[in-house]
Amino acid sequence: MLVKFWGVHGSLPRPGPSTLKYGGNTPCVEVRCGKNLIIFDAGSGIRELGEDMVRRRRVGEIHETNITGHIFFSHLHWDHVQGFPFFAPAFQNSNEFHLYAVRGLNSTIHRIMSDQMDQPNFPITLKDMGAALFFHDLNSGDTVTIDEVVVRAERVNHPGGCFGYRVESGEKIMIYASDTEIVEEIDPRVVEFARNADLLIHDGMFTPEQYHGIGDDFSRESWGHSTWEGAVRTAVAAAAKHLVIFHHGNDDATVQEIERKARERFPKTTAAYEGLEIEIY
Ligand SMILES: [Zn+2]
Ligand SMILES: [Zn+2]
Repeated sequence: MLVKFWGVHGSLPRPGPSTLKYGGNTPCVEVRCGKNLIIFDAGSGIRELGEDMVRRRRVGEIHETNITGHIFFSHLHWDHVQGFPFFAPAFQNSNEFHLYAVRGLNSTIHRIMSDQMDQPNFPITLKDMGAALFFHDLNSGDTVTIDEVVVRAERVNHPGGCFGYRVESGEKIMIYASDTEIVEEIDPRVVEFARNADLLIHDGMFTPEQYHGIGDDFSRESWGHSTWEGAVRTAVAAAAKHLVIFHHGNDDATVQEIERKARERFPKTTAAYEGLEIEIY
């Protein structure tokens, strides 16, 4: 299982000198399990992934003329969907993509994706994208089987509803848990869900001081995001082998400091950065 990070920042793209080290694109993670392509979230990072896929096909590194991909959305907040209209492979007629997201009370994945491209938001509609698109609304606990890969959705703590995903391929286990808030005690559902993961990708957007509003007089409590410290406690409790802190909300210097402090408590910690590749053997 090969995992590659294309967007690691949260809530809004943050390009510029303050994010050169970790990157300023919003969430997108590519997972390759054999020939299967699975993507988590379509934040602005998916544009880079799409351009890379088109390039690889042009130079013959991807041999298939028909690419089938599975895109799992943690939820449908804008930082997780905004890149999709710029995902070049979705304009190629021969390709096919399946889009999965949490079933909402008044929204479906199809409605949200088409609304964000309707007038006056965007010049091209979802229907103008050439690839065949299939939409799937999921409930918590649902599993999707793609050849030998099993992806399970589990509700996590985020305003409006959000999924974490557990990917199992043979003995290998990867968890994608972006956008989840640990209030005080770690979430036992997430711990159970992430049990024995080879790789745990977890929200660690804030420092504990930011979360409580110490120093700047505004608290981020109930915004739906965790501190790096909560991510570490979850990784320890779940006996995860490798923790990747994700959905950054800070500049490079602060993220680097977050990684340093996290490693004191959980040595196998990596702060996600654009271009990071992790192979799970
Ligand atoms: Zn987010
Ligand atoms: Zn969100």
